[in-house]
Amino acid sequence: MTDLLSKFDPLIAEHAGLLSAGIRDPFGIVMDKVLSPTEAIIKGQHTILLGTYNYMGMTFDPDVVAAGQAAIRDYGAGTTGSRVLNGTYQTHKECEEALKDFYGMSHAMVFSTGYQANLGMVSTLAGKGDFIILDADSHASIYDGCKMSNADIVRFRHNDAADLEKRLKRLPPEAGKLVVLEGVYSMLGDIAPLPELVAIAKAHGAMLLVDEAHGMGFFGPNGRGVYEEQGVADDVDFVVGTFSKSVGTVGGFCVSNHPKFEILRLVCRPYTFTASLPPAVVASAATSIRKLMTAHDKRARLWEATRRLHGGLKARGFKLATETPESAIVSVLMPDQETTALMWSTLIELGVYVNMSRPPATPAGVFLLRCSICALHSDAQIDTVLGKFEQAAQMANLALHEPA
Ligand code: PMP
Repeated sequence: MTDLLSKFDPLIAEHAGLLSAGIRDPFGIVMDKVLSPTEAIIKGQHTILLGTYNYMGMTFDPDVVAAGQAAIRDYGAGTTGSRVLNGTYQTHKECEEALKDFYGMSHAMVFSTGYQANLGMVSTLAGKGDFIILDADSHASIYDGCKMSNADIVRFRHNDAADLEKRLKRLPPEAGKLVVLEGVYSMLGDIAPLPELVAIAKAHGAMLLVDEAHGMGFFGPNGRGVYEEQGVADDVDFVVGTFSKSVGTVGGFCVSNHPKFEILRLVCRPYTFTASLPPAVVASAATSIRKLMTAHDKRARLWEATRRLHGGLKARGFKLATETPESAIVSVLMPDQETTALMWSTLIELGVYVNMSRPPATPAGVFLLRCSICALHSDAQIDTVLGKFEQAAQMANLALHEPA
């Protein structure tokens, strides 16, 4: 018998090597108790959470929690079924109504996760003979959607409009084309130059799907995402998003004005062939989405806290992935895997949780400590984090740069 798991031996050895150096497992964190969107107890220690994507701090919002409690009482713990059979409850329809109102679009389809929303939309929209054109830094769910589709796949260089144009020019003009973009790219925290990219895609007859997983809730006047902020709403055919970030629960969705959109419920396999979300989850999501429509003060606070962290890290000599804060993700560039792991481990010992990211999640050779900021982080918490970063850098022998 060939052991099918032996192909993972190099990774097993690398992981064991890290742990034997006395470093905590960055992928084995357990939250013993979650105190708020910004604080938890981890291994008995009070920890500031700075790597949760809980941008708008909705997880403990009293109305969001109450909506979930009422739904579990009234509809039970789960649906035990697919959306197209027994798994559509009034709560799912209310959640789709909330999304339509939030986005000002005529159709909304809720999936069980954002991963499945991308998997389903990308693989169903583009079929045999069509082309999917995607940014090289796209999320795994977009890549997996490409693998699942029968379309031809074309990648262009990250955020590079000229490269997108070059590749589109080579494709048969009459072929179906889907250009897939993200508003915010979650590894480096940079945003897409959508007006340029969208104009090129449209000029070549492509349809456009934009993933706003990391932009929903706080970009644009209505919090719809980067595509709203950059004024390209009329040219975007499909917006995909998730409930696992600003909305504060779990689930995924696609919204659109396309008149034939509803047929997707019958042909999109990651929608059809899986159980729907529990009623409590969609009820919480619907309440959260409606509250996010008017969360102007929170949006302003999120940007303020983000600028404080970005500016503070820069002033202390850390190298950041973006020159200015482009989104609520602030990524700190690390020189190599060992220093990244040591920095991450030191930070967690000091009571700060951030995400450690390495290839293949990041582009080749890029090692990051990623911070995601929450509107509920106080200035005092951000200042504490800045102090801990400085302390960790000393302990991990990370060379800091003279601030410009
Ligand atoms: N798209 C992007 C850009 C993401 O970053 C993520 C999750 N990190 C997803 C989709 C998937 O979302 P979910 O967690 O709801 O599966």
